[in-house]
Amino acid sequence: MDHLANHPTTADMQAADAAHHLHPFTDTAALNEKGARIITSAKGVMLRDSEGNDILDAMAGLWCVNIGYGRNELADVASRQMRELPYYNTFFQTSHPPVIALAEKIAALTPGDLNRTFFSCGGSDANDTNIRLVRHYWAALGKPGKRHIIARKNGYHGSAMGSASLGGMAAMHAQGGLPIPDISHIAQPYWYGEGGDLSPEEFGLKAARALAEEIERVGEDNVAAFIAEPVQGAGGVIVPPSTYWPEIQRICDAHEILLIADEVITGFGRTGAWFGAQTYGIRPDIITIAKGLSSGYQPIGGSVLSEHVAAVFAEKGGEFNHGYTYSGHPVAAAVALENLRILEEEGIVDTVARDTGPYLATRWAELGEHPLVGEARISGMMAALELSPDATGRKAFAEAGAAGLICRDHCFAGNLVMRHVGDKMIISPPLVISRAEIDVLIERAHKALDLTMVDLKAQGLMR
Ligand SMILES: *Cc1c(COP(=O)(O)O)cnc(C)c1O
Repeated sequence: MDHLANHPTTADMQAADAAHHLHPFTDTAALNEKGARIITSAKGVMLRDSEGNDILDAMAGLWCVNIGYGRNELADVASRQMRELPYYNTFFQTSHPPVIALAEKIAALTPGDLNRTFFSCGGSDANDTNIRLVRHYWAALGKPGKRHIIARKNGYHGSAMGSASLGGMAAMHAQGGLPIPDISHIAQPYWYGEGGDLSPEEFGLKAARALAEEIERVGEDNVAAFIAEPVQGAGGVIVPPSTYWPEIQRICDAHEILLIADEVITGFGRTGAWFGAQTYGIRPDIITIAKGLSSGYQPIGGSVLSEHVAAVFAEKGGEFNHGYTYSGHPVAAAVALENLRILEEEGIVDTVARDTGPYLATRWAELGEHPLVGEARISGMMAALELSPDATGRKAFAEAGAAGLICRDHCFAGNLVMRHVGDKMIISPPLVISRAEIDVLIERAHKALDLTMVDLKAQGLMR
């Protein structure tokens, strides 16, 4: 393994990492005690670590490596673009070929008349853009009072001040003075955890009607937009009941507010259609994109506007005093374009819809039969298991998150990256995962569940 010979030893890298690197979403003291796992290379759905272990990445990095690792075409395009035009900006009446081609391609792939993209470097800054964008939209229409944005508890929209405020993560709001003003959060459509005695369909309607109540409370004249993920990702792959999105759409149509679908995870094939809006029958005014746009090979994201929103900017908006140095970065744009070519020409989204998605759904449902699992749910290639001390009654563990952490550690030790959100175990594998690789994923997950149950029984935590 020559590539390993070029690296310092694992222990040396861990020590330097512990001394000089502050990790995102990490308890630094806890990490430094055990040392980071160091990933050195990857191919397809497999990661290789600095100790030579081959690990199945059932999270596609952070929900992003849709086409899988190791596609040299993207490296070649990046290299070519860097030689030709490594950087130029898109401010002040300039543009360049890669960003023009990418904007045109996104318009062709996105549903409806979502035809104009404002580029960012990722999902967080795209959602910060959305806050300024919808407020400026209403101001340009002579309604500057429409500033308030309604979002959801346990939603995730990023980690910058604005996007983390749109998010409904209590632990994030607890640090740094969030949320910023004029944002409020309604309940999430999380039937397993919050549906009580209602059927999923009844609960879906109830959760959606919370939006109408919140519009009423804040006053329609004050509300700019509602933002939500078609399927909540970081919140634990919360797949909404079938009644939820049609009712949300109806409420948005009945009121003068914009609907923003945050498609950062659900975009580019994750749910088995190109966009979650198609899977769930949503007609958003704006969508947020990032992650699968470049399969994570380059940092790039954006806000895609429907024609009627874009028209206000084109006709009445004047100068939009907003932009990022790297908005529409040429190398990122060229790589994203090549990623979209591969997704399209190799029929990857179709394969998920017709073959590997249904296969994963069948095998995932088998994990749902495990005595530690209260529910298995899935949408395309994103899925969750609810760990439960008593799988028959949607019961929660007394100490939330302990079982999930034990299971996550067993997965990691068994060379499977499966993430835990509290006591939910979640996956979002590369869309190119094969049936044989799905079998390996399920086998490793099953083993981790068995080992977790042994530990929980020993600790007296099962019922
Ligand atoms: C990851 C994510 C974001 C944030 O994207 P970054 O590129 O990390 O800034 C926003 N929205 C959703 C739904 C996400 O999953």
